[in-house]
Amino acid sequence: MKSASKHIVVVGGGTAGSVLAARLSEDPGLNVTVLEIGADDDAYGDGILDPARAPEAWLGMQPVAATPMLNGSGVIPMIQGRMLGGTSAVNGLATLRGLPEDYDGWAAAGLSGWGWDDVVDTFIAAETDQDFGPSSIHGDRGPLPVRRWRREEMGRAQLAFYDGMVELGTRTVDDINDPRQLPGLGIFPVTIDGGANRVTTSRAYLTSQVRARKNLTIRTQTEVKTLIVDKRRARGVVLSTGEAVEADEVVIAAGALWTPNLLMRSGIGPGDHLADHGISAIVDLPVGKTMSDHIGPGLRYRHTGPRGGTAGPAQSLLIGASNGVEIDYHAFPIAPSSRSGSSKFVIAVFLLRSSGLGSVRLGEKPGDGPIVTAPPLPHDANERLHHAFKRIAAWETSAAAKSIGCTPIEPLDLNTRDAPAIARERYTISYGHMVGTCPMGTVLDADCRVLGVEGLRVADASVMPTIPSGNTYLGCVMVAERIARKMLAQGRG
Ligand SMILES: Cc1cc2nc3c(=O)[nH]c(=O)nc-3n(C[C@H](O)[C@H](O)[C@H](O)COP(=O)(O)OP(=O)(O)OC[C@H]3O[C@@H](n4cnc5c(N)ncnc54)[C@H](O)[C@@H]3O)c2cc1C
Repeated sequence: MKSASKHIVVVGGGTAGSVLAARLSEDPGLNVTVLEIGADDDAYGDGILDPARAPEAWLGMQPVAATPMLNGSGVIPMIQGRMLGGTSAVNGLATLRGLPEDYDGWAAAGLSGWGWDDVVDTFIAAETDQDFGPSSIHGDRGPLPVRRWRREEMGRAQLAFYDGMVELGTRTVDDINDPRQLPGLGIFPVTIDGGANRVTTSRAYLTSQVRARKNLTIRTQTEVKTLIVDKRRARGVVLSTGEAVEADEVVIAAGALWTPNLLMRSGIGPGDHLADHGISAIVDLPVGKTMSDHIGPGLRYRHTGPRGGTAGPAQSLLIGASNGVEIDYHAFPIAPSSRSGSSKFVIAVFLLRSSGLGSVRLGEKPGDGPIVTAPPLPHDANERLHHAFKRIAAWETSAAAKSIGCTPIEPLDLNTRDAPAIARERYTISYGHMVGTCPMGTVLDADCRVLGVEGLRVADASVMPTIPSGNTYLGCVMVAERIARKMLAQGRG
């Protein structure tokens, strides 16, 4: 029997949800219940924990939704993890913060408390940086163990990419999480333990001590169907079994695709769109109208050198090729990957600033998943990609690329102006960085409270008003840490 006074329900025990659960239950005066549709993390198995097998997890996962065709390459799968730890259990482990101007842009848009000087302390507090230790930019006490891949852990193609870029005179940096060092070529930091196993947010935050707290309940394989909202106040949730779970406050952390879906199914969203689905709007908000993602062409190669390299998704990263820090190239093996490596790989080029014009809308029937439309690339994408492609053309001629016989699978003269469009037509990838579907500013206030509804917050990738210039998982941890802290400071209510 729980004795605490205020009951908080967290919907989704994913990347952000695991952080929220751990932090909120630090207050014994709160009673926290996490409802997660997927399995607990003891069901992970090696395929999740071994980073070299991440590409298998991507192949094995069903996309939650398919976007209408961006180009001739067909639908772009958009997947999310469905288990405790969420997408942090299937992602590429890259642990990046983005750039100061990303967050300063949030603050300049009126979201006080979200500028770089505000958020950097949260990034530092969340990590134990095994390479740099405590400093003005890194921490040594946080739940997330972070380090950079070592050369001996990288695949041959990744090394050839890195070394070839260095041959071309690209400036290298030790630490791409230190914005003072950018732009430059660096190795991704990753969240792994001493045995080079993936550490998901559920493993990092929901430790056995945390799980033993009497005020924390974690219910896995539990699907939330709708919110209970009465007189513009959230009162709890209804599960797919029909069970109602009452709450004093609900925090939704179901990810950038499912959070807007749940809000809209519960009557919180664009009035006209909800009306089309026979749902009357409790509040008319632009939920799902502004999705960003990092999307870009992938150039496929093979090499003749020995298959090998152990850490499959180890990625070298180049940012800042043309105009400030705005392009991210990386090389990764084409799945299936395994301990024996792969001789095929992709060099992907992503523009770090998204148009933000993607969307999430309701599917036709109540039980259908959301319909997701990828954001179109920004208007100057071809020009920026052209610059990046010329660098890759030069890389193809480097001694490092030649040393393992790197050749394009579908040859393309990367120096021509129409090469980016042809490459996009052949193969376009989503980085899985869907964000901004319920952003602070238009759907939420700066404390991530849903505008016009009491007792209801969102705290996951959905809340980001613009996409950070880097991978998004650490940003979700930061959001969850900050929202939990605000909730704790605002008291038990
Ligand atoms: C293939 C791939 C690779 C990526 N690689 C990287 C990377 O290397 N580095 C990086 O920083 N980012 C990466 N990302 C992106 C990053 O991992 C995500 O942005 C981030 O993890 C999202 O966190 P979240 O908390 O918003 O959602 P999630 O972690 O997806 O959590 C949402 C949770 O809600 C649960 N849920 C959903 N609906 C319901 C419901 N109705 N009831 C109950 N539970 C529900 C889900 O099962 C899930 O556990 C990658 C993404 C993908 C797809």
